[in-house]
Amino acid sequence: MIAETSPQLIIASHNAGKIKEFQQVLGTHWRVQPQADFGVTEAEETGSTFVENALIKARHACSLTGHAALADDSGLVVPALDGAPGLRSARYSGSSYEDNNTLLLNNMAALQGASRQAFYIAVVVLLRDAQDPTPLIAEGRWHGRIADAPRGKGGFGYDPIFVPEGGSLHAAELSSAEKNRMSHRAKAINSLLALAND
Ligand code: IMP
Repeated sequence: MIAETSPQLIIASHNAGKIKEFQQVLGTHWRVQPQADFGVTEAEETGSTFVENALIKARHACSLTGHAALADDSGLVVPALDGAPGLRSARYSGSSYEDNNTLLLNNMAALQGASRQAFYIAVVVLLRDAQDPTPLIAEGRWHGRIADAPRGKGGFGYDPIFVPEGGSLHAAELSSAEKNRMSHRAKAINSLLALAND
């Protein structure tokens, strides 16, 4: 059980899956609370990199709550498509996860072999206060390739069409425990914890 005296950490996200993952990993060190508990709404992601957007989200939550805040920004990058869907991963098709996957498969129809390589990226930022000049910043990448068709019911987003390196299962066919052992977000959080304990 986390002590009342433990430092408070606001999670600058409204994504229930991400909040749960952060609570599981960080809950023994911090009193973790979602920003919605403080009435904080989504920040506008105006940055042109994942790290800028993560900083914007964390600073927004810090300044409105007065507590330390943690934010992440993540997406899928296909080098053969000049980095798309990239920063626009969440709104690639302007519609559902399923439509994002269909659009990406269509846009990659002519690509074969190494051109189907892709990686997930997650950048995690921890700001102690809104003016913190030394934020903790960590990144994780999960390499793989884009399949020809979707498979599996687990995970979310692009997981049905993402095949992690070194195997043949699609990410949506992995258990959440397996995904959390190797994912970009898990790697970023573990690196951030190492920085926090340094
Ligand atoms: P954001 O970080 O909330 O802006 O969301 C980034 C978007 O990237 C998500 O809506 C998904 O489309 C995609 N994404 C990020 N991480 C994952 C993942 O672990 N699996 C599948 N899709 C992901």
